[in-house]
Amino acid sequence: MRNARSHGNLESSSSEFGSEGSGLQPKELHGSSTEFVSEEPSIQSKKSCLVIEIFAGSCRLSKACKEIGFRATAVDKDESRAEHFPIYQCDVTNKAEHDLLLQYIEAEKEELLHIHFAPSCGTASRARERPPGPPPLRSNDHPDGLPDLKEKDKQRVAAANASYQAMIAIAKFAIALGISISLENPKNSLFWRCSFVLQFLEWLPKYHICEFQHCMHGGRRNKFTHWLSCNPRALEVDLFQSLHLLCDQQHSHASWAPYIDDSGRQIFPTASEASYPELLCTRIACILKAEALKQGFVFPSTLEDQLETNPNSAKRQIFTTQPRGKRLRPLVSEFQAYKSFLFPLNAETAVQQFLQQLPKGSRVCHRTLTEGGFFWDDKLAEEANLEAHQSWTNGQPGEILHFGIPREPHDFITEAINKGHPRDIVARVPQPVKDLLTDLACGSLDKRFAKRASFMKRWLKRSLELKEEERKLHENLPGHLQGILKGKRLLLFQEILNDLNYVDVAVVDEVIAGFKLTGWAPRTGVFDPDVRRPQLTLDQLKKMTPGLNASILRAVDESPVDQTTEQVWQETWQEVDKGWIRPANSTVGCSVAKRFGLQQGAKTRMIDDFSISKVNHTYGMKERLRVQAVDELCAYLATLMDGANPSSLPRLKGRTFDLKSAYKQYGVDTWHSNFLQICVRDPAGGHGLFNVNALPFGATGSVTGFLRISNALAFIGIHD
Ligand SMILES: [Zn+2]
Repeated sequence: MRNARSHGNLESSSSEFGSEGSGLQPKELHGSSTEFVSEEPSIQSKKSCLVIEIFAGSCRLSKACKEIGFRATAVDKDESRAEHFPIYQCDVTNKAEHDLLLQYIEAEKEELLHIHFAPSCGTASRARERPPGPPPLRSNDHPDGLPDLKEKDKQRVAAANASYQAMIAIAKFAIALGISISLENPKNSLFWRCSFVLQFLEWLPKYHICEFQHCMHGGRRNKFTHWLSCNPRALEVDLFQSLHLLCDQQHSHASWAPYIDDSGRQIFPTASEASYPELLCTRIACILKAEALKQGFVFPSTLEDQLETNPNSAKRQIFTTQPRGKRLRPLVSEFQAYKSFLFPLNAETAVQQFLQQLPKGSRVCHRTLTEGGFFWDDKLAEEANLEAHQSWTNGQPGEILHFGIPREPHDFITEAINKGHPRDIVARVPQPVKDLLTDLACGSLDKRFAKRASFMKRWLKRSLELKEEERKLHENLPGHLQGILKGKRLLLFQEILNDLNYVDVAVVDEVIAGFKLTGWAPRTGVFDPDVRRPQLTLDQLKKMTPGLNASILRAVDESPVDQTTEQVWQETWQEVDKGWIRPANSTVGCSVAKRFGLQQGAKTRMIDDFSISKVNHTYGMKERLRVQAVDELCAYLATLMDGANPSSLPRLKGRTFDLKSAYKQYGVDTWHSNFLQICVRDPAGGHGLFNVNALPFGATGSVTGFLRISNALAFIGIHD
């Protein structure tokens, strides 16, 4: 039994746990140092926090995590058991899919807090030892599989072993990245005795096994579970210690006996018990949230807080409608206050009665189990703003429940008025742009001209000095890029970006080498983090190309010839003259995309469909691309109008520039130039094949490349 004085849990009962969370970090709550309070001054607030569930099945844990503010990714081989939750389909025993999953984990590592594994115990279940169930496939002496199994059972055990081993590889990978893991199986499952599982346990730097029974976490049966965890961020502490609850015999249990259901099928309760009870999931999610807060993650409750951590999250919402779902936080937080009460364990009836007395709309936002018997301490309780419910008696184990109390209508309106129009919160303009706008509205014209002239003079001079080096650089460019990049002062571009301390100077190196249109795009620091994983590896694509190519060529050959076909064919040959593409004879070793014409007014735009050739499926991104569009312009205008007396504003003139053949100003790298082809309908019959030199319109990688260049140019424009 522990008492409150030695206990960290009191610290957690403050309001920061509202499901809407106030964004407070634990260290701001209390001065005292306990296991719950981090004194680490260097913790940076991170934007969003991710939990991954592997072998997710019903996805109940992912769902519970999402409900309290996490991002959650549920991974499983198929989606048949998922309860209304999107599944990342992945067979971890397939090498290519396994690799993609590891790449995804790597790409998310900054925001990834925890991975949970729930491997199937089907072949390892002790229930098999009890008739009338299926026969056992493993034993204490042969945990990796009985020696004389029938062929079919042998295959089942081999498949299960392969998935266990794949899982262990993923867990090791995560731990090496500093990500905590948990792994669950029934206490008596032979899984725990498998040779490779024992080896894994030996490999782990330190691990904890928490044992509990499901009936104490909302389950109908007294199932014993072992919950193994390893947290590389704090190896000595069992993150899940508070789950350790064994049946208190205060309730009845549903039977384990197999029964015949209404449709005459025999049902084994072991299968239905494989899904976690919802209460258990909520408790686990709350444990993870406490850990996330400790690690400096924030869970913003209002739009203002959200924009504080991520100024770009609402950029596109300035003048359009708000998106569905929970991507943007509300302007006024849902709860006016939080109340923390200590209840006895699993006192659901008392909790429901208590909720009835609170204002309508109140709900439980967070819950923390006390880890054994709990002794009351008035002083600590007062500090933590904790009250005990009448049904709890001193020394009893319990659970601290945090209730969110919604705002009264009047309070809501007052708060909304205080916040003002959301436009003022959303339309944030970066400081350098603000300075520029202020100067434009109020600064002196002479000074501005002088500044621009000196910038131009300095770099014009430098461009002359670099002339010889630029010539050498161009001479050594890959052949297919020499024409495309001709006349571009690439070294000058690089020097200007370096001079301005731009984060993505590397973009110039990629211009010089050519952009890649498969694999992972680099993290540039220009855009917000946001991972979009590739669906295929390049190796998978290469294996698919002969079949894909054949079907694309057939479709092109059979397509009807009309006026657009003629135009596309002619323009395609003009592109050959410009060096953007080059004719080819064979598709061997290549991936073929389909070119078609899209009528845009009088113009026919050439679209190269790299989605049907699956090239786009191999492209992954770690950042969300953003185009500076009309929203930006509106925000700038709003800033101008807010800042100055409208009558003193100068007359504004707008001007738009169109970029000439924007994408075709830059090229792909040599490997992609040889690998990527387009196929065009020949009006005279059949098709023509061409290899790609310049960025094709229709490949995701082209968009990344082009937007990186645009952002670099815009940066120079703002910072000159
Ligand atoms: Zn029980």
